[in-house]
Amino acid sequence: MHELSLATALMDLVREEAAAAHAQRVTRLVLEIGALSHVDAQALRFAVDVAARGGPAEGATLDIQEPPGTAYCLDCETSVTIAARGAPCPRCGGAKLLVQGGDEMRLKEMEVV
Ligand SMILES: [Zn+2]
Repeated sequence: MHELSLATALMDLVREEAAAAHAQRVTRLVLEIGALSHVDAQALRFAVDVAARGGPAEGATLDIQEPPGTAYCLDCETSVTIAARGAPCPRCGGAKLLVQGGDEMRLKEMEVV
């Protein structure tokens, strides 16, 4: 499962950051999952729950934000918001779009005690 390996990698990062901050426990994680990232938020939530067990982030509140995808349209030369990869330009219907953002998952914030 794709989400489980992401969650495992995320927990490695969280563990490192928590150790660097001399934190006892991680109380909250804010993740950003771009609309174009092919990551299922529900599946990731479950996977993070499993991956966090026994670590500093066990029981942490998990907030998931899902920013829309952004792309630059070569036809109308405008930055637009798209819901899915391969979607046409919402302004002109063109297909020549360069994805600019919303295609990655990242740890945005972390609260520790
Ligand atoms: Zn366009």
